[in-house]
Amino acid sequence: MVLTVWEQPSAAAVAPRVSDFLCDLPGPVAIHLHGHDRSRCRVLVTLLHGNEPSGLEAVHQWLRSGKQPAVDTVFIIASVAAARTEPLFYFRQLPGKRDLNRCFSPPYTDNEGLLAQAILQHIDQCQPEAVIDIHNTSGSSHGFAVATSDTPAARCLVGLFVDYLIITDLQLGSLMEQPLACPVVTIEAGGALDDAADFVASAGLGRYLMAPHVFAEERPLTLFQHPYRLELLQHSRIDYADHGLRDRDVTIRKDIERYNFAALEAGAALGWLGEEGLTHLQVVAGDCSHPVEEFFQVRDGILSARSRLHLFMATTRADIAASDCLFYFVTEPVPVSES
Ligand SMILES: [Zn+2]
Repeated sequence: MVLTVWEQPSAAAVAPRVSDFLCDLPGPVAIHLHGHDRSRCRVLVTLLHGNEPSGLEAVHQWLRSGKQPAVDTVFIIASVAAARTEPLFYFRQLPGKRDLNRCFSPPYTDNEGLLAQAILQHIDQCQPEAVIDIHNTSGSSHGFAVATSDTPAARCLVGLFVDYLIITDLQLGSLMEQPLACPVVTIEAGGALDDAADFVASAGLGRYLMAPHVFAEERPLTLFQHPYRLELLQHSRIDYADHGLRDRDVTIRKDIERYNFAALEAGAALGWLGEEGLTHLQVVAGDCSHPVEEFFQVRDGILSARSRLHLFMATTRADIAASDCLFYFVTEPVPVSES
C-alpha cells in the first residue's frame, strides 16, 4: 500500500523525539484520531517536502500530548523517505525524484504521482470539512498562507495560523489546486530553521483541532493577490554572495531573505548579473510568462526592481532557487478588514 493507515496511536506509542518518531514511521502514513464529534473530520497534510519539519513537529507534539481533537482528525505525513535521508530534514525530495507537491495533477505514472493520487483518494474517502497543508519556507520568513481563492472559509482557516494570505492561480500541480470537496489552504509556517515557525505550526494546529467550529470566526488578514515567480532558466548558474561572482550568470545578495515580507524599493540592488544580463531569468504568473524587463532592470551589472516590490519565499539555497524559483513577488499588498 502506498499510504499506510495508523489508527488511534496512543501517546506511549509515539517516540519522545521527533527524529525517532520520523524513523519509526512505515513510510507515507495517514494517522487517524477519533474526535469528540465523530460525525465530522478534518485533515492535516504535512511533510510534502522533506526539508520542512514544522508541521511534523506540531503533529508529533499533539500525538505525544494524548489530547482528543474536537472532531475526527487525519494527519497525512508524506515525504518520509526524503525527510529521513541524512542529513535529516535536508532534502525537499529524494535526489533525482520529482517534487511531490508538483505531482497532484494527473497523469499519475511515477512513484511520486502514485503517492499524490493515494493522498487525494484518502482525503476523498475521509470527506473532511477542511484540509490544511503545512509547509516551511526554505529561507527565513514570517508565516503566511496560500490559497487559490479568497473565500470566507479560507480566511477562517488561515486566521487560525497566520495573518498574511497570498492568493495564487499558478498551476504547479500542488495539493491545494485540486478540486477537493472542501476548503484547502497551504500554511507556510515560516523558515525551516526558524524556531518561530514551529510555534506558528503547533499553536495553529492546536486551534484547528480544538475548535468545535473552524468556520465560525474570520480574523483580519493582509492579502497579496496573484504573485509572480522569478525563475532561473534551465542550465543557468546561480549563487549567493555580497558581490558579483565571475563564474555565475546570476549572483543574488546573500541577505536576500531579509526582504521576505519587507518592501524592496525601486532601484535597490538585488544582486549582480553576468554579461548576458537578464536573459537567464524569467517571470511567470499563472500560465504565462512576462518580460523580465517589466519588473527588473540591470545597470552596471547590478540587478534591481523597477518599482516597489514585496518579496516572499526568497531563499539562499541555490539548488532550490534553480529547481523551483528565486522568489515570489507582488507589486503592492491589499489590506483587508473583517467582512
Ligand atoms: Zn513546501
